[in-house]
Amino acid sequence: MTVTIQLDRLRQSLLALAQIGATPNGGVSRLALSDADKAGRDLLVTWLKEAGLTVMIDEMGNIFGRREGKEKGLGPVLIGSHIDSVKEGGKFDGALGVISALEVVRTLNDEQVTTRYPVEVVAFTNEEGVRFSPAMLASGVLAGAFSLEYAYTRTDKEGKQFGEELERIGYRGTLKCAPRDFHAYVEMHVEQGPVLVSEGYPIGVVEGILGLSWSRVTIRGERDHAGPTPMVMRHDALVAAAQIVTTVRKLAQTFGGDMVTTVGSLDVEPNLVNVIPGRVVLTVDIRASEEEKIHQALARLKEEAARIAQAEGVQIEVENFWHVPPTHFSPEIVATIEQSCQRLGYPYRKMVGGAGHDANYLNRVTRTGMIFVPSIGGKSHCEEEETAWEDIEKGANVLYQTVLALAEAEPGR
Ligand SMILES: [Zn+2]
Repeated sequence: MTVTIQLDRLRQSLLALAQIGATPNGGVSRLALSDADKAGRDLLVTWLKEAGLTVMIDEMGNIFGRREGKEKGLGPVLIGSHIDSVKEGGKFDGALGVISALEVVRTLNDEQVTTRYPVEVVAFTNEEGVRFSPAMLASGVLAGAFSLEYAYTRTDKEGKQFGEELERIGYRGTLKCAPRDFHAYVEMHVEQGPVLVSEGYPIGVVEGILGLSWSRVTIRGERDHAGPTPMVMRHDALVAAAQIVTTVRKLAQTFGGDMVTTVGSLDVEPNLVNVIPGRVVLTVDIRASEEEKIHQALARLKEEAARIAQAEGVQIEVENFWHVPPTHFSPEIVATIEQSCQRLGYPYRKMVGGAGHDANYLNRVTRTGMIFVPSIGGKSHCEEEETAWEDIEKGANVLYQTVLALAEAEPGR
């Protein structure tokens, strides 16, 4: 008989954690390194110890709970996510991955299984990046994307430094925040989008994460009076901006695949009823799983911008200020997760995630994969965030089977 996790136990722990920083409308506010974050961490550490794990805290406050394996000298299968939240966020984002990892370990304990490789539960610090920017700061330090010094000197909007706040809540550990001999990393997470629910799949096997490109488009026209200036003599920055917005929408249609494109911010100057806008600054967000397509779309945007500028008699400058290449997870881990779904008889869909996760950075240092479970209504980063318990049960069972397969593999695999 296939061993399965205990949903009741998982649910109890998840809901107990959700009490910490609970908001009146059923969400959580557990910002990184806040008092609520500290209380959540303390509870998690208690549970890890109760499960017989050795708890280690690294220099970035990442929490690891280690369950030893049978053979010495083998690196751990790492499973987890994050327990910080956005302001008025949901109770599943991040927490589900950590509590499911804990449930996997509890189930291994129930079954008295000693795996060949060690298994470690991990909770990464400051994944959300709402209090201390950028997001995924601690997994980023672990992967070498940011220095420890850079991370410690990030400040929140009250001017408090990350390093000091980490110290204050008592989670500045001594373990070096660096890659170790990780065997693999698997993160279970809510999808945060509508695809699984709309297509009726309980599990998403995540092959990668969309790359993203952010640009700032500055349009300079001629500010003038809305009355006396004839239409033919206008150089209206907002009319040009409107064409940029529709051009950005068309990029996704033109390049197809999984590309998504957004203009999310628009500043109009002087933004007055009787003045022809003289200057507009807008942002462009382009995401796709193929790096080449992102570059092509950006090049197309620049061509179109030049054409629009000429036609309206304005100046348009396109400045690319942030780029994250697409993440392609380990085909071996993806295949292992698929096999786990097949063994359990669960329908699944391979997919590419649209948002960043700690798994993006872990993918740089070890074989990595992710398991998505459906988000009802596709909602996340809000109090209404919800996932059906039966889907959570399936997701955690897939995680359990995946961990077993990875932790029992022949050494050298
Ligand atoms: Zn998350």
